[in-house]
Amino acid sequence: METNKNRRNFLKSAAVLGAVALSNPLEIFAGTNESAKSLAELKPVNGKYELPPLGYAYSALEPHIDAKTMEIHHTKHHQAYINKLNEALDKEVQLKNVPLDYMLRNLNSMPDTVKNVIRNHGGGHWNHTFFWSILKTGTKPSAQMSNLIQNSFGNMENFKKEFEKAGLGLFGSGWVWVVNQMGTLKIITTSNQDNTIMENAEVKAKPILGCDVWEHAYYLKYQNKRADYLAAFWNVLNWDQVEANLR
Ligand code: MN
Repeated sequence: METNKNRRNFLKSAAVLGAVALSNPLEIFAGTNESAKSLAELKPVNGKYELPPLGYAYSALEPHIDAKTMEIHHTKHHQAYINKLNEALDKEVQLKNVPLDYMLRNLNSMPDTVKNVIRNHGGGHWNHTFFWSILKTGTKPSAQMSNLIQNSFGNMENFKKEFEKAGLGLFGSGWVWVVNQMGTLKIITTSNQDNTIMENAEVKAKPILGCDVWEHAYYLKYQNKRADYLAAFWNVLNWDQVEANLR
């Protein structure tokens, strides 16, 4: 029922877009878990995108990610991406009911006037909403998850090493992602607020986890020591959600 309704709404939005070709419309609703569903349905409320609640306290990830960083990251940085996105979409009313997920997956078909804003600020909104959902202390990978990591990277230690190396090697601001490509996990980095669902992504796949390596994500506590932040990231990774993202 819910899916049919979503698809109806989606088709309605797509019809408004007119010329936009559907690259893979069913993929948008492939997620079955709450987080994936809410991301696929991320769209404006009364014409405006809103800052989603974290679902936990700013201090919940202490001492690995400090409360002040979380608060500024959420209320200032994430909010700023949303504000800029709203501002641009005010001038493109035909996009008002199109899910963000769809706009990112079909970036090349977006009007030139807002394409870059959707990419940078829409990407920022999607990425941060995703990021908050995969953070929690005290979880552990399941046997299934551990097997998948073992099959893809040899062992957990090597996976973490490769992930941290990728994050450290990323010049400037960006993200490190893990995607599931037909049963094999891959580590992908993107610059700025790009991600792996965007139309021009090097590997186009829904991420199962991601780490924000912009300095604003760690500077207050770690200053220039990105390596320390990446090493601490494992303490706040919500493995339950990562596993749910596989489905
Ligand atoms: Mn950020």
